[in-house]
Amino acid sequence: MSRLDRHALEQTFAERVRFDEPLSRHTSFRIGGSADVWVEVADAEEIGRVQKIAAAADLPLFVLGGGTNVLVSDRGVRGIVLHLGRPLACLDWRANGNGLHARAGAALPLKRLVTEAIARDLSGLEFAEGIPGTVGGGLLMNAGAFGGEIGNIVEYVDGVDAYGELQRFPRSALRFSYRRFDLPPGFIVTRIEFLLQPADRDAIHAKRDDAKRRREAHQPLGYPNAGSIFKNPPGQHAGRLIEAVGMKGERQGGAMVAEQHANFIVNVGGATAADVRALMIEAARRVWEAKRVRLEPEIKLVGDWGQS
Ligand SMILES: Cc1cc2nc3c(=O)[nH]c(=O)nc-3n(C[C@H](O)[C@H](O)[C@H](O)COP(=O)(O)OP(=O)(O)OC[C@H]3O[C@@H](n4cnc5c(N)ncnc54)[C@H](O)[C@@H]3O)c2cc1C
Repeated sequence: MSRLDRHALEQTFAERVRFDEPLSRHTSFRIGGSADVWVEVADAEEIGRVQKIAAAADLPLFVLGGGTNVLVSDRGVRGIVLHLGRPLACLDWRANGNGLHARAGAALPLKRLVTEAIARDLSGLEFAEGIPGTVGGGLLMNAGAFGGEIGNIVEYVDGVDAYGELQRFPRSALRFSYRRFDLPPGFIVTRIEFLLQPADRDAIHAKRDDAKRRREAHQPLGYPNAGSIFKNPPGQHAGRLIEAVGMKGERQGGAMVAEQHANFIVNVGGATAADVRALMIEAARRVWEAKRVRLEPEIKLVGDWGQS
């Protein structure tokens, strides 16, 4: 931290830069220690400036979207956490021969994109009803549910590379797989274009309502959480495996394996990141011992985990 040019950050970002910012305020788990520096940027040029300041101070840079798929360490995050501000939450629509194109800023809440697409009788995003977070985070995670995923409808991705250069990746250059999107290290997404297709209104609403019903029936909506903890192993369900080894309702401090769905860990009050991680380790251990199946985390473990 000593080499960080705090003055340059404060001059440029004024109230948009904060020091020792608690990340529990910015994560759906309501868990996480502080970021040394938290800065909110308005455009690609500001991203470039933060990259330069971080590089000059030899500090790592981490992008946080809606914070709905992360477990931030209790020790917090060393270096700079960059958050895309409201100017990067824009959305515009453009008709084109093969459908309707939505150009969305990476900070746009995914919920808003879904709602606006459905209001325009456009199909392609019904599966995402109820997935929280931003469009940028959804892209990075290739967020999906009930057979659909974001990667299927992406046309191109704009952003800033690790050297501060603007870059566009067309669809042909994008590589999506299960809950994964491959990007060059340090690339920060600023804008995504989606292609959606006009369809029958009743059919769109039925799909959206079905996604909503299934989510409400099976997911613990009452307590802070970060969605599915582990990826589903090929041909298996992480939740069923964890349930089969008797972990539903198991607690560690303020963290609990949800009763409704064993692939969710919920913060029932005052949970620490260490509590959640201990339950994750125990679930993975028991599933390995009983079933010889490896569970791979879907959530991103972020920050300084020390030797723990
Ligand atoms: C109740 C609940 C239900 C959920 N249901 C689902 C579900 O059905 N399906 C599903 O797939 N997920 C689900 N999730 C997980 C989560 O909502 C998604 O993964 C979401 O898309 C993450 O978006 P985010 O903005 O919160 O990303 P974050 O959690 O903030 O970040 C996730 C990753 O993306 C990176 N990132 C974010 N923005 C950018 C950017 N602009 N440029 C570069 N990197 C970036 C971050 O560095 C991090 O590595 C659920 C979560 C909750 C809490």
